[in-house]
Formats: sequence, structure tokens, C-alpha cells
Amino acid sequence: MVVRTSGVSPAALSPPGRRRLGWWTRVAVRAGLVTAGLSRGLGLGAGSIIGGRVTLVLDRQALRRLATGRRVVVVSGTNGKTTTSHLVAAAVRTAGPVAHNAGGSNMADGAVAALAEAPDAEYAVLEVDELHVAAVAQAVDPAVVVLLNLTRDQLDRATEVGAIASALGRALADHPGTVVVANADDPMVVSAATAAPGATRTVWVAAGASWLGDATTCPRCGCTLTFTASRWECECGLARPTPDWWIDGGKACSADAVLPLDIQLPGQVNLSNATMALAAAQAVGVSVDRAALALREVDVVAGRYAVVHRGSQDLRLLLAKNPAGWAGMSSMLGEPRPLLIIINAREADGRDTSWLWDVNFEQFTCRQVVASGERAADLGVRLSYAGLEHQTVPDPLTALATLPAGQVDVVANYTAFHQFRRRLGREQKVTR
Ligand SMILES: [Zn+2]
Repeated sequence: MVVRTSGVSPAALSPPGRRRLGWWTRVAVRAGLVTAGLSRGLGLGAGSIIGGRVTLVLDRQALRRLATGRRVVVVSGTNGKTTTSHLVAAAVRTAGPVAHNAGGSNMADGAVAALAEAPDAEYAVLEVDELHVAAVAQAVDPAVVVLLNLTRDQLDRATEVGAIASALGRALADHPGTVVVANADDPMVVSAATAAPGATRTVWVAAGASWLGDATTCPRCGCTLTFTASRWECECGLARPTPDWWIDGGKACSADAVLPLDIQLPGQVNLSNATMALAAAQAVGVSVDRAALALREVDVVAGRYAVVHRGSQDLRLLLAKNPAGWAGMSSMLGEPRPLLIIINAREADGRDTSWLWDVNFEQFTCRQVVASGERAADLGVRLSYAGLEHQTVPDPLTALATLPAGQVDVVANYTAFHQFRRRLGREQKVTR
């Protein structure tokens, strides 16, 4: 195992303690694994949520007990959690086995399931919903927390963005030994990461911010923030920190490393995610040279970025679920292929579709666009106001028939994406 000492506390480098689970915790874990297996067997899904839930019902301390002795990296933020956690897991895997909630079950139950399925893994990489960081961190005492960005999402479920940043700041203050890898370009993230100055060590990454609609005013004092090409600041003193990592010409750079990224994942936003992953890997004691090579192997992340051949069409599957997600994805869309947009508004998406009005659909005027999904009508109204000629076809597979042969970009929000993949999976073989 290659271990670099840069950025790692002595405690983080100590050998992982063997988890001594009590008999009741072992019963709870076993019950969870059996339940997850049954769920998979019945075709009800991956089973990690129900399995983790069963374990937690039987033993409320299961997450803490399963995490004991591991070096845990928590990945959170509004957008890019799943992709970045896959990149971090690939990087950390160069140093040893990793427990990872790869399917994106990002609350305590998903974390329990991931740890239960990899009982001997020395490392854990846990994607955690930003509203659940405090509870999960309390249980797992992470070595590293990665904070990608904070913007509006699921308007009816999540609280206001500034309140989320404050809650994250309080959570981090409870973990003075944790290294925070944070996006220097997002004022909300900086506010959260510096809420308890001196309590945590912070590694700043110039990861960019594709949408700043929630950061026009200072999260600390409410005054208007001033943005220039390379800096933002407020008169109260909150300002962009000097980055420890940045991207230059497709390379991830720090004071002592210049690493070509050469990743398969598309778009500027994934170069940022990869740089965050390298900073996290270094913070947990992994050689960044080996980590950078490992990042190149990541291509499809929980179905995202996959290309599915269906009839005469090649469908590129992308997920975007809020205005910032759409803004970050714009750099992936490239040439103006036909575009199928699928929007649902179930609980996991947020019932409120008003976020569609913050997305810059006006940029797609030169594409053939079809609005689809359970909320195709809401999307159709938005596209009409954007001046886009489009069709509205609620059933996504029927909608595909209205588009020409060749390459088609398919962008869906959360449940729409997984619903679409399942339907394709039943009739198609996925090709990469
Ligand atoms: Zn201020």
C-alpha cells in the first residue's frame, strides 16, 4: 500500500482497528443483508435502502459500529455526489479495499448497507445527502468530508440553501480532526467550511461554479457579493480562499503535483469532480499519482453517461435534476443533437417543478426537442416560454419514435432517469 503523509493526521494513518461487532449487531447486519438479497431476488431494486433500514431498526448504533476503525470519506453537495464518490472510490481503491454506496443510496441506511457489504474494507467512501451529513458524520467520524457545491434542489423538501450551509458548518465544527475538501468557488460551501475557523483543516479546490443563482448575496451578512473573473468577495471579509488545487489545461495542479486528468467522463464539471477526488484521496493518505491513473478507468456512473443502442438510435443518458445540474451539464452536450427531456415530480425529485424556470433552456433553440415524462406538460410550458419549437409526448419511449435516427441526448431528472433506464433495460442490452 502506498501512503503519502501529506494532509493526513497521525490518527488517520494508524492501522484500522478490527471491528468487534457484538452478537446483536451481527444479527442486525445479517438480517439487513438477507432482506436486501430478498429485495434483489424479487426484482424490487438493489435492496440497500430496505436492508440498511432493517439493520438500523434492530441496532440504532449499527452505523457507528460498522464504521469503527475505517478511514471514511464523506462526499456531499447538491450536484455531482454520485459521480465524485465513484471517482474518490476508484482513487482510494489503489490503496486498499473500499466500502462504497455506489448505487447512490445516500442516507444513513445506504451507508449502513455499504459498510455491511464490505466488512473488511479498510476505507469507506460514502455519498451523503447534504441534509444528512450531520447525522452520518456523527456516527462515522469521517477522516475527510468533500463539499462540492450548494444550490437549490427539491424545493418542497430541502430547506433554504443558506440554512443548509449553516447546518453543515455546525456539523463540521463537531469534527475538528476532519479534513474538509471544499470548493473555493462556491460562496455557500466556503461559508459552511469556515463556520468554525480553526476547528477543521480545509483543502481548497478551485472547482468552479456553473450556476450562482443562490449566491448573489453573502451567506454571512446578506450584502451583495462582488464577482470578478477569478475571485469573489464580500465587504464583511468572506472571500474566495486561495486554492490548494486548481485545473490548468486539463491537468489537476497543486503546489507539489501536476497530474494529467485524461478522464473518460465528459464536461468541465467532471474535471472539477476529478480534482476534488484527487484532493480527497491525498487527504486520506493515498498516492495521487496512482489515484490519477485510476480516475481514467471510470466511465459509466450508476448508468449516467452510458450510451444505449436502441433501434436506429444511440441514446446518451444524462441526469440533471436542478438548475445548477443543468448548467454544469451544458458543457457535456456539445453538438446540437436531438434532445429528449424527461421530467417527473415524485417525492425523490421534489414535487415542485418551478425549478424548471431557472434552467436556461433558451440555449437549445437549434435542437429538435421533445418534452416527456410525468410532468411533460409543465416542461412543455417552460419550453414554449423559452421560444423552443418542441413536441410534448409524455411517454418517453413513444417520444423517441418522434426523433430521427442517430445520436440522441436524453436528459432526465432523478426518478425519470431510473424509470427510463429500467424500461430500456427490459428491452435492450446496454452497450458502452
Ligand atoms: Zn458578507
